[in-house]
Amino acid sequence: MVKKIALEEHFLDPATEPYWHPTMVDVAPEKKAQLYRALTDFDDARLAMMEKTGIAHAVLAVAGPGVQAERDTATAVRAARAANDFLARQVQKRPDRYSGFAHLAMQDARAAADELERCVRELRFRGAMINGHTNGRYLDDPAYDPFWERAADLNVPIYLHPADPVAPLPAIAGYNVLARPMWGWGVETGSHALRIICGGVFERHPKARLVLGHLGETLPFQLWRFDSRSAPYGWRLPKPPSQYLRENVWVTTSGMYDLPPLRCSLEALGRDRVMFSADYPFDWSGCEFIDTVPLEESVRADVAYNNAAALLGL
Ligand code: MN
Repeated sequence: MVKKIALEEHFLDPATEPYWHPTMVDVAPEKKAQLYRALTDFDDARLAMMEKTGIAHAVLAVAGPGVQAERDTATAVRAARAANDFLARQVQKRPDRYSGFAHLAMQDARAAADELERCVRELRFRGAMINGHTNGRYLDDPAYDPFWERAADLNVPIYLHPADPVAPLPAIAGYNVLARPMWGWGVETGSHALRIICGGVFERHPKARLVLGHLGETLPFQLWRFDSRSAPYGWRLPKPPSQYLRENVWVTTSGMYDLPPLRCSLEALGRDRVMFSADYPFDWSGCEFIDTVPLEESVRADVAYNNAAALLGL
């Protein structure tokens, strides 16, 4: 069993819990109760799972959408702060096993930047997890420039976690099965990452670091096409799209446990850009995958542990 760091691992606290319940309306009550128990546990069950699967260290983040679903900005700012203080207390009990990603009220870019700084400097968090757009506003919006600047200055990554789109995609209307993890979340989150690149965020903030789950939401597969089809269609940034993806983006295996896309991500982005993650408690079958998938042992160790340790300063 290879030693692992996992960085898409979820929890719930009293301040963000109300935003989670509406996402569970289609889930069977027993399944929801089981998820709820796991999300609110920081002791026996979570540590036993980590022990059994070789996760030496887990970076914990609120189970989405959290306060990004809040309509009132002041309430969102207050609840995010409470969630971060709650997580800091849990991390303090077991700093060897847990770290935190900040939860941020992206309704207010400057408040989010300040809270990120407080979380990194005072609470020793490792970055932030952001659950997609906030009331329809994406992270390429110029209003977020101060936020990206702060994240780059603090030298911490921003993990972009999937969320539902603003409106259902017409192309998949009528097929509910396609709407969320099977396809829709990947389209939404991959598109969000491309907006960040096309919007010049990494041109303005070359030290900014973005993390994507699901082995990069299909983007590593597309690098050649991004480059060959961008210039003739109005691409104006100095570097080709693939270069921003290689320089500013890391990906994790969360919820994507298959050799062909893993190989593609490693080859397209580089062996130092792919990291293990489980997505506990929604899925942790990826632990066995990364233990057994045919990889050169030094690459397995980099993906499972070393790359995340380097990115997060663990
Ligand atoms: Mn997740």
